[in-house]
Order: sequence, then C-alpha cells, then structure tokens
Amino acid sequence: MDPLISKIVIAIDGHSSCGKSTVARELARKLNYIFIDSGAMYRAVTLYALRNHIVENGIVDREKLKADLSKIKVYFRMNSQTQHNDIWLNGENIEDEIRLLEVSQNVSPVAAVAEVRQLLVTLQHEMGIEKGIVMDGRDIGTVVFPEAELKIFMTALPDVRAQRRFDELTAKGETVSYEQIRANIVERDRYDETRDESPLRRATDAVLLDNSYMTREEQLDWVMNLIPKI
Ligand code: C5P
Repeated sequence: MDPLISKIVIAIDGHSSCGKSTVARELARKLNYIFIDSGAMYRAVTLYALRNHIVENGIVDREKLKADLSKIKVYFRMNSQTQHNDIWLNGENIEDEIRLLEVSQNVSPVAAVAEVRQLLVTLQHEMGIEKGIVMDGRDIGTVVFPEAELKIFMTALPDVRAQRRFDELTAKGETVSYEQIRANIVERDRYDETRDESPLRRATDAVLLDNSYMTREEQLDWVMNLIPKI
C-alpha cells in the first residue's frame, strides 16, 4: 500500500524503549519505505568500543574512540530469511548482540561523543537522500532531517516501558531484573536529554504520541491517520 503520491521522510524520536522501532518498522512495511533504526548504529559503535576496551562501566576513552573511528564500518544488510534490515559491523552481523543489556548500559556515553555523531549522522543523511524512509532515534527530527515532512515524538510511562523491555529480554533468554531495566531506561533518558551534542528534544513541529495504553495496532492506525493530511 502506498497512499502517497511522492515519497516523504518520516522521523520518529522519543524516549528509550517506548516502541519507536516497532512502529517505524511496521509503518515502513505498510508504505513500502526503507526503515532505519539509528539507535542500532550507536549500539554498533558501542559494541566495537566494548570489545576493544574503549568503554567500560559507562566511561569512554574518547581519544581512543576518535582514533578508531576510521576502522568502524557500520551498515545495514537485508536478511532474506527474516526480511529484516540487520545491522553489521566490519563484516559481522551483530543484530542480536547489540540488544544485550551491557550494550544498553554503555551506549549513551558513546553516543554523546561529537565525532561519533558526526560519522553516523553523515551516513544517516545519505540513506535518506531519495526519501521514502522512516528513521527512528533521538535527533532525527531535530538534527538529521529537520526538514522531514512528518515528525513524531513518542513516549510512555517509565514503568510501562520497563515492563515491555523486561518481557522482551527475558523472552530471548537474557537474565535481567526488572529494576535493572527500569534504572537503565531512566538513566539513558537523563543522559540523552542532558548531553551537549544533539540532546533528545521534541522538535517544535513533532506530533506527540504517548503509547502507554495503546496496542501496536492502535499506534500504527494513529500514525497512518496522519499521513494523508500532509
Ligand atoms: O534507540 P535505542 O534505544 O536503541 O538507542 C540506543 C541509544 O543510542 C540511545 O539511548 C541514545 O543514547 C543513542 N541514540 C542517539 N541518537 C539516535 C539514536 C540513538 O543518541 N538518533
């Protein structure tokens, strides 16, 4: 289904673990658009930094990270089995590994490094040149595509978000506590909102979606209803 005559850019930003990627992926599928999870790109750089002891317990060796940036190749490849655009790091599919709690616990300090953002924002821009893209993240409507035709800012109550993420991780077999997850979500929001580089903000022209008490179907309908009005 493609209700649009010409393709547009859809930017979805918001708080941690509120289902941005789920909505963005389903929306892209419905519109036959490309879906890009920009958070996966920051997680990929974080995985590299963890493996190379450039970040530990949330402390980043900025100089070493900057020196290594030219060695970090992050890109998406379509997985023909799952029909999912998987994230790759230097020739390795890291789609599953980037969701580990250890990555979540170290990603915000890595994402606060200006040079990391410059590198990834350049790549994100290139992906959106031909439009027909749904990208989710923290700065998509404010920095990456300030001219996006549709901007959505998503949020949900922290308890609701923590429960959803807890259910997701335990279903995958990861041993985590609800308290750990909730603390990580609140801490990442705080870090993302208060950093100097492209802090998480609702763009003035972004439509607010609080999905605390909405099903996936309701969220998708809600977003689809905005599209013909453009
Ligand atoms: O979206 P996700 O929760 O996977 O993002 C992980 C982290 O990456 C965020 O907490 C944030 O620190 C960083 N991020 C960012 N800018 C984006 C997307 C993600 O700083 N556009």
